[in-house]
Amino acid sequence: MPVSSSPSFGPPLSPPPSLPLPLADAPLRRALDASDDAIVLSDRSRHVVYINDGFTRLFGFGPEEVLGKFLSSVLFGAHTDPGLLDKIRENVIEQGCCRVETLLYSKSGQPLWISMVINASGDASGGPGGTITVLTDITLTKMHEVLQKRVLEGMVNELPLPNLMALVCREVERIAPEVTASILGVDDQGRLHPLAAPRLPPDICAALDGAAIGPLAGSCGTAAFLGEPVEVIDIHTDVRWADYRTLFATSGLRACWSSPILDHRGKVVGTFAFYFREPRGPNALHRRLVDACLHLCALAIERDATRQRIHQLAFFDVLTGLPNRSMFSSSAERMLANLERNDQTGALLFVDLDRFKQVNDTQGHAAGDAVLCEVADRLTQCLRARDLIGRLAGDEFVMLLSECATEQAIQIAHGMLAAIAQPMDILGQNYVPHASIGIAMFPDDGESIDTLLRHADQAMYQAKSDHRHSLQLFSAEMNRRAQERAALERALRQALAERCLTLHYQPQVLSSAPGGLHGVEALARWNHPEWGPVPPSQFIPVAEEAGLIHDLTLWLLDEACGQLAAWREAGHHVPCVAVNLSGRSFHQPEFAQAISHALKKHGLHTSDVLLEITESVMMDARPVTLANIEALHREGFKLSLDDFGTGYSSLSYLHRLPISELKLDMAFVRDLTNSPTARALTVSVLSIAQSLGMVVVAEGVETSGQQQWLQAQGCPVMQGYLFGKPMPSNELEAWLRGQVPPG
Ligand code: C2E
Ligand code: MG
Ligand code: MG
Repeated sequence: MPVSSSPSFGPPLSPPPSLPLPLADAPLRRALDASDDAIVLSDRSRHVVYINDGFTRLFGFGPEEVLGKFLSSVLFGAHTDPGLLDKIRENVIEQGCCRVETLLYSKSGQPLWISMVINASGDASGGPGGTITVLTDITLTKMHEVLQKRVLEGMVNELPLPNLMALVCREVERIAPEVTASILGVDDQGRLHPLAAPRLPPDICAALDGAAIGPLAGSCGTAAFLGEPVEVIDIHTDVRWADYRTLFATSGLRACWSSPILDHRGKVVGTFAFYFREPRGPNALHRRLVDACLHLCALAIERDATRQRIHQLAFFDVLTGLPNRSMFSSSAERMLANLERNDQTGALLFVDLDRFKQVNDTQGHAAGDAVLCEVADRLTQCLRARDLIGRLAGDEFVMLLSECATEQAIQIAHGMLAAIAQPMDILGQNYVPHASIGIAMFPDDGESIDTLLRHADQAMYQAKSDHRHSLQLFSAEMNRRAQERAALERALRQALAERCLTLHYQPQVLSSAPGGLHGVEALARWNHPEWGPVPPSQFIPVAEEAGLIHDLTLWLLDEACGQLAAWREAGHHVPCVAVNLSGRSFHQPEFAQAISHALKKHGLHTSDVLLEITESVMMDARPVTLANIEALHREGFKLSLDDFGTGYSSLSYLHRLPISELKLDMAFVRDLTNSPTARALTVSVLSIAQSLGMVVVAEGVETSGQQQWLQAQGCPVMQGYLFGKPMPSNELEAWLRGQVPPG
């Protein structure tokens, strides 16, 4: 193809030649006219020598308005790229053709996005030095391609909503440069929040944030209020703009057309506005643009709301609205990194409510929830803006105090204890919550959030076991103990699973008949392969806290019942076996049935076992505990109150429960010889028991002096090393054989 020496846009270089020869051909012209594209031939002097009918259909200009003129003088307008002519010329000269996309204007002034393909013409077409230009309307394609594709891509790439909306605004402003676009969100309270308005002055955006929608609230507020587009041709005069005129006074904007963005249920979630610099309404291109954008905006806004809801559910506690464990941990990690960088200290506070379970159990979960929300509020109020708070689980709250030394942490923690202990009204009842706080310092007590949490938890645990409603700083000693305890728990779990525990039996003798046996008490024994014998005073509390006690109790019942049945089978006379029941087992709804089941399995009767409970069970008002006790009573079981005299010793409770035996704690027995008080108390316990028809078992009788005194006071049953230590079953059998049978 001969390369034109002079491209066909711009000023002519020589006079226009006549119509190129091939276009005299009628069929060819008909074919060209039928095309939807506009086709233009220009001669070497760049004057238009031919346009097809498609040109007139697309731009509205007839041949008489175009022929003999420069195409640029007909179609170029306000926002056509000013460098376009040079670009076309350059390309046509160098390569013989040029392809561009540009904004051109129709006869009515409508801007249209046009793809232009300009080829240098030869003898057979426009004549040497001329051009053939094909113009295609790509306005729609442009919108779809640019907007749809880029916005959807943005969504897929998790672009934040404001960025996505800014992208829409910028694209719209590129397609229609006379427009200043803005997208506002509308919240559930009917307030506007700018999402994107790249060309609006920042102070206007700031002022719009939080503005209420209404019937006279500018174009956007009104459109959001009415749920339909609002066209304000002149903001200087329109009554709906009265409140906003001053704000926009220096912006140079005169007209504003705003359309509501509706979600899939038809709810207004935002507005999409076009501002113009002169009084006017939108044209067809603007309408097509808005049509193309509204559903994209709706999609993006809805998606963002869903994402926020998911985020809220995933990272915040639904009840209190506080960050949950994972949210707290990740924010805390960032804070620790900052503190480390600046060589500063921080404090992790671990708060746990005292006896919170009781609120849930006795007043119901709604009351428990109300307490947690109130405590969350109180704790939050004790914090400074830079601190973090989270709810880990149940009644556990954690706080990370930034730039905080030990003294200050203690002070804040004291403030928290005081704030928590204010009386509160919970569902009409007065309640005073208490809490225990453990403190671990960064970086001395731990450099990672996990270590700090673990150590603050240990300190809290210590505070709780010391005296509750107090605070405790973490110490290395505490850590050592906690680790030991964790090792003990693991080993106990394994021992239970592998049935490595055993039972020892301690005889309880009748003081009235020498050699007479009241029963035996079954006591758990654990001989660890490395550590040797672990005393029950160590492993029973661990079993309780680790939730292993119930399994242990069931095993113990089965074992003790099986042993009693075996002794009977072998002809040994053992009237009954006493088993120790943990208070926690009574929280299991089926506990009473499980006990009955163990007995039946070994063919025993309720009178064959004595169930030892502690005073804490007696005081436990939980419905489940009461139901278990009631069920045991109905079945005819006998209860024995262990360690009597050490706990609440509330005599008033004694007659409420089906208790047939009191076990006088060994502390009394030990002091009998040297303490008149111990003697006086023992005498009164014996007389109360007698009047209530209960048997008294004196525990820990070690000397014959104790035995004689107790016997003289009429104590019916005694247990202690004086008569026999707890021993394995075979030793007990030997012990039994050695006893003088009651005569
Ligand atoms: P307890 O039920 O009051 O058991 C009596 C404790 O006193 C036993 O300690 C026993 O060995 C000890 N003892 C008996 N006579 C004497 C004496 O004359 N002098 C002295 N110094 N001590 C004597 P043990 O076996 O170490 O058990 C301690 C506690 O652990 C028990 O107190 C009981 O509360 C608990 N326990 C033991 N086995 C079990 C069990 O299988 N289940 C549950 N829930 N608790 C158990
Ligand atoms: Mg006992
Ligand atoms: Mg005892």
